[in-house]
Amino acid sequence: MPDLDRLVAGLRCRDVLADLSEFLDGNLGSERVSAIQAHLAGCDNCARFGGNVAEIVAALRSEGARAPRLDASALGSLRARLQQAIVTPASHDD
Ligand SMILES: [Zn+2]
Repeated sequence: MPDLDRLVAGLRCRDVLADLSEFLDGNLGSERVSAIQAHLAGCDNCARFGGNVAEIVAALRSEGARAPRLDASALGSLRARLQQAIVTPASHDD
């Protein structure tokens, strides 16, 4: 069981987890985003599961800064990949 009370860069893991969806949606202020990124960079717990997410977000943000519109097909394939990774294969019969 990971220690979710680990304090790194002024945030605890549980705080980062609580804000992760808002973080991904870009709804947080820049100070909060910086704090979360600093936590992710310095926390082994979060680096295991959150680090990859943070890298994807950072990549998207830097791409977006150069090109305001993300290629629709690239966005579609990214979404499909995420869904494949997240959704478990349906095994129930209805
Ligand atoms: Zn953490």
